[in-house]
Amino acid sequence: MPVVPILLSALAMAAIVAVRYLLASGGFALATRLRHRGLYAGLDPQIRREIAWSLASAAIYGLPAGVIAWGWQNRGWTRIYADVHAFPLWYWPLSVLLYLAAHDTWFYWTHRWMHRPRVFRVAHAVHHASRPPTAWAAMAFHPVEALTGAVAIPLLVFVIPIHVGALALVLTVMTVMGVTNHMGWEVFPRFMWGGIVGRWLITASHHQRHHERYGCNYGLYFRFWDRVCGTDEGLGDFARAHAQAGRRGGDGGRRDAAGGGGAGRVA
Ligand SMILES: [Zn+2]
Ligand SMILES: [Zn+2]
Repeated sequence: MPVVPILLSALAMAAIVAVRYLLASGGFALATRLRHRGLYAGLDPQIRREIAWSLASAAIYGLPAGVIAWGWQNRGWTRIYADVHAFPLWYWPLSVLLYLAAHDTWFYWTHRWMHRPRVFRVAHAVHHASRPPTAWAAMAFHPVEALTGAVAIPLLVFVIPIHVGALALVLTVMTVMGVTNHMGWEVFPRFMWGGIVGRWLITASHHQRHHERYGCNYGLYFRFWDRVCGTDEGLGDFARAHAQAGRRGGDGGRRDAAGGGGAGRVA
């Protein structure tokens, strides 16, 4: 097996994941400055830690992805297909849903496992050291947690057929939700978190409560497992986090107290 090309592929993929993280988190951090100026006031040391852990995670995510990308290109590994007509067209959106559902299931159960006290101290305390999390916390994981996240999609591509464009969409959803769920305000329209659809989808309001209370709201994209297992405790309270930001020196809290956008309400 040609070790050097595989290693180069892994390095390239780690670089791609790192740049993707910096662009996505940087973009939403900028949006936060524009929309809720001062929300991250006084959090610079925490943000530096979030970025350092996230870049380490990018290297861990890149390794299996790079090896498999090499095998896909050179050895015909995986069930990723490039010809959109290789499967019926209705399968394209279905495959996206299957991937999100499978990833969500994997995330829910590994996440619950990491909340067992002994595992938590080793593998998951790093992620919860962000109080409150920021857009930069998207990949702030201990290497053990990063490893559990890094293997999910690389394993799925061997099992569930997916068009290369659909896979790109899955990875985009994964990146955007990873960042926005930690951003400290709600970027999505109200129907996605407040209405009937919101009863089943996870956005920032839902994950905020996980970071407030720890023992609930473990899911990633869907509230399905949280609801089935009785671990869903509703939506978090941005108003309090924004008021704390105000006390740290920003004006995000005052804006929100005046009703200036975002989801500051408790559901
Ligand atoms: Zn989190
Ligand atoms: Zn957690």
